[in-house]
Amino acid sequence: MDNIALPLQDNNSPKILVIEDEDSIRELVVTLLIAEDYEVIEAENGNLGIAMAIATPPDLIICDITLPGLDGYGVLQILQEDSTTETIPFIFLTARGTKENIRQGMNLGADDYLTKPFTTQELLDSIQARLRKHRSWREHFQQKQTTNSQQINYTVTHDPITQLPNQLALRDDLNQLLKRWQTEEDHSNFDINQRWVIPVFYLSIDRFERINELFGYQFGNIVLKHVVRSLMSSIAESAYLACLNYTDFVLIYPPDSKNVVEKLTTIVENILKKFVHPLSVESQKVLVHWNIGIITMPYQEYNFDQYLNQAKNAMEIARKRGNQNYYFYEQNQDHPLNQKKRLLDADLYEALHRHQFSLHYQPKVSVKTGKILGAEALLRWHHPTLGMISPGIFIPLAEKSSLISGIGQWVFEAVCHQIQIWNEQGFEHLRIAVNLSGRQFYQVNLADNLSEIIERYNVSAKQVELEVTESILISDVDLAIANLRTLKDRGFPIAIDDFGTGYSSLSYLQNFPFDILKIDRCFIHNIMRNVTNATIVKHVILMSEQLNLTTVAEGVENVAEFEFLRAQNCNEIQGYLFSKPVTAVAFGEMLQSDPNFLAEIKRYTQ
Ligand code: C2E
Ligand code: MG
Ligand code: MG
Repeated sequence: MDNIALPLQDNNSPKILVIEDEDSIRELVVTLLIAEDYEVIEAENGNLGIAMAIATPPDLIICDITLPGLDGYGVLQILQEDSTTETIPFIFLTARGTKENIRQGMNLGADDYLTKPFTTQELLDSIQARLRKHRSWREHFQQKQTTNSQQINYTVTHDPITQLPNQLALRDDLNQLLKRWQTEEDHSNFDINQRWVIPVFYLSIDRFERINELFGYQFGNIVLKHVVRSLMSSIAESAYLACLNYTDFVLIYPPDSKNVVEKLTTIVENILKKFVHPLSVESQKVLVHWNIGIITMPYQEYNFDQYLNQAKNAMEIARKRGNQNYYFYEQNQDHPLNQKKRLLDADLYEALHRHQFSLHYQPKVSVKTGKILGAEALLRWHHPTLGMISPGIFIPLAEKSSLISGIGQWVFEAVCHQIQIWNEQGFEHLRIAVNLSGRQFYQVNLADNLSEIIERYNVSAKQVELEVTESILISDVDLAIANLRTLKDRGFPIAIDDFGTGYSSLSYLQNFPFDILKIDRCFIHNIMRNVTNATIVKHVILMSEQLNLTTVAEGVENVAEFEFLRAQNCNEIQGYLFSKPVTAVAFGEMLQSDPNFLAEIKRYTQ
């Protein structure tokens, strides 16, 4: 056996902890190990040894069995129960060399057993053998972990059919592109007098379903690959192309400042020219029509989510106009929706004190048991003349003014009051989710304010889940992390809402202390047919599991979607399949009847 000591961590000598109460033996072993270039720490009793091992885990432990107080077996048992120390190689050193003693030590998980008196060589050989074995195990484990996470990361960020980056990769990729453009010669000297813009194209294949319906999904997937190949050949090498959602793509060109409209027109016409003739796919002729929305994003006030939305709206306008069309969205256009919004803005001031708000509750159901675990509280505005207005419209309006604080406060109080009522009826297990808007989330005294309200209504923080969206968090990452930590310390479970829609970066996510991940409903829709979404959902659930989060799927509308999610180990379901959002009274009645949704599905499918 070779006698070369094998360092475990980079160039450092392996660290060995010696636990031995007899000073003379301990000193002897320590001197011997130092002479062999090991780093040594020592403890004269079991408790001290455990504390040292947990505080700075060594690469190997040598421990006597007979110790004052806790003996060597006890030390090993405790270290095996702690995840930081359970895999450290452990060698017993003792005068008790009976077969029973050895068996007892080995059964507890000891790696070797040296009986006193032992020779120096015996001790060194034993140490080196254990260190070598441990090192190779560790390297294997680390490599497996890296490969696993690289694989998951790749699959989560790429479209499975076209291998293009998908919407979860967009923000990271774009940040890198921006950095690259800033250092590139052509763009490093931005002249502020010139209007530099980043062109963004939203491309959507028109009625691709008909290809799937006529020829089947497998053929459809092959067509998509051809489409992307043609698309790539008609755009500049410096352009960036991502696949957003099966048949929707985003194309981004480097910043430009001169004759932009003409240049973009040329780009889009070049693309359309490529698709004038049918593609030949496996001896079939397939004609592909595009709807394309174009916008220019000012380089200085870069806000990608907002501009991508505008590009999508422009694509929708193109779609309405007919096939093979594109639409250029100009920044100063006043959309009819904006006019309606201005009208509502005025009424929103009145809504709170005129008691026009109410809350609806949508059940969240356990995939395992089929039982109701809680609900999401969703705000409703009963407008005196326009009827019910969706929170998707009025919340962003309220966000723009300070109105949102008052509304948010009202929602939180109303929810806590309602939880108090349900608690008194014996439903203390319920967890009700409340949505926090951006302004609310960054309020300086938010945690104190929420704590005060739950105390007033005698509600436990763990019953109130706080839902925040990615776009809120990324506006100030450091502050967001600090705020989330404070809220979590107060006991509120934290959920990331609408996951996947914020074009967020996966690398950010791991830094936020979430408990729950809610997959947005746009990924769930038609999941059995949409390979892109199916792959994203599958891997997002896997990633969520790895981060120890509870996964919730929103917008589940049918049994097939439910079954897909159940097969992927999704934990909770929210959607019209089980119930639309209902009034507090109706939700209370639902709780009383205690439905089992799994049984209902079974009955329905039989
Ligand atoms: P969200 O938090 O993602 O809420 C889920 C939305 O999905 C709700 O829309 C819900 O009605 C809808 N939904 C649930 N299941 C299904 C389904 O199976 N199919 C379909 N098509 N839709 C489903 P809603 O109530 O219109 O709320 C829209 C958004 O408004 C919410 O999205 C949330 O971001 C915001 N919001 C609602 N209430 C509040 C609130 O009290 N405060 C704040 N800040 N935002 C709120
Ligand atoms: Mg929500
Ligand atoms: Mg949501």
